[in-house]
Amino acid sequence: MIEHSVIIPLYNERANLEELYTRLSNTIKKVDQPYEIIFVDDGSTDGSFDILKRFNQKDPAVKVIRFSRNFGQEVAFETGFKHTKGRYVIQLDADLQNPPEEIPKLIEKSREGYDIIYGIRKGRKDSIFRKTASKLFHFIMLRFFRIRIPKEVSTFRVIKGELAREIANLPEKSKFFTALASWAGATHSFVEIEHSPRKRGTSKWSLIRLAIHSLDLVIGHTAIPLRMISLFGLLFSLLGFILAIYMVYRKLVTGIAVSGFTSIFTAITIFSGVQLLSLGVIGEYLSRTYAEAQRRPDCIIRETLGL
Ligand code: UDP
Ligand code: MG
Repeated sequence: MIEHSVIIPLYNERANLEELYTRLSNTIKKVDQPYEIIFVDDGSTDGSFDILKRFNQKDPAVKVIRFSRNFGQEVAFETGFKHTKGRYVIQLDADLQNPPEEIPKLIEKSREGYDIIYGIRKGRKDSIFRKTASKLFHFIMLRFFRIRIPKEVSTFRVIKGELAREIANLPEKSKFFTALASWAGATHSFVEIEHSPRKRGTSKWSLIRLAIHSLDLVIGHTAIPLRMISLFGLLFSLLGFILAIYMVYRKLVTGIAVSGFTSIFTAITIFSGVQLLSLGVIGEYLSRTYAEAQRRPDCIIRETLGL
């Protein structure tokens, strides 16, 4: 019976793997319970896989899943989750920003019975840009879409194995773990952890990637944008109706038809803008519904080691 499954998604992290493996093994060995380490190579092109292969050859606790191309961090850790056997699943980044030495703290807290223990980054050591983007993301999600994602939680967490596998096996394609966990009614708590700057390699999150990620989250978890369209439609129809009555009244009573290219032009521009925007929002939902309807698998696994 495996107690702890450590899942590590990675994409081009060759420079970090050796140190990661050493520090992680030392720590998890000290916990003194059966464990497995599952690396999910998310289509690395820098030779990361060869290093993982070496780990697997000398250490039977190391298992590897290799994707045929880059499918993204979420897909990587969810696929890893599906293959775990542990009573607890521990998720860790490969870039050593979350020190493996903090794992025992998370484990200890998880024994209080929570479904998930999130590591909170004490003095987050990311670039200003990365931090601002993250703050903006949480603000918008909560204020506009009522999607509550615990703030400042990192992807460093311990989850009850059963729950992790349940969520990973949900049929939908684009999954957001934190959002789905709160959907599933999971209880959670936090532990403060050290956070280090990235020593080697670069963050894989560009502004565009974050924006698409946010859009996926909103569309996957709320229909508020669609309702906003209905509301806009109602408001503008009302406005149009009132304006129409006013115009007819003026024409009948005063005999003066309003002349005005400007007002008509303005109205047309605004309303065609709103219409296109609404169509766009519907399109976003439609394209995602289409992607789900195609029922393609989340990823293609090229090879696995030790599983
Ligand atoms: N990662 C991945 N696939 C991707 C992008 C990232 O598996 O497409 C991994 C990456 O190698 C790292 C973790 O996910 O182990 C976190 O990525 P990163 O450090 O770039 O994100 P940040 O720390 O900036 O949030
Ligand atoms: Mg990082």
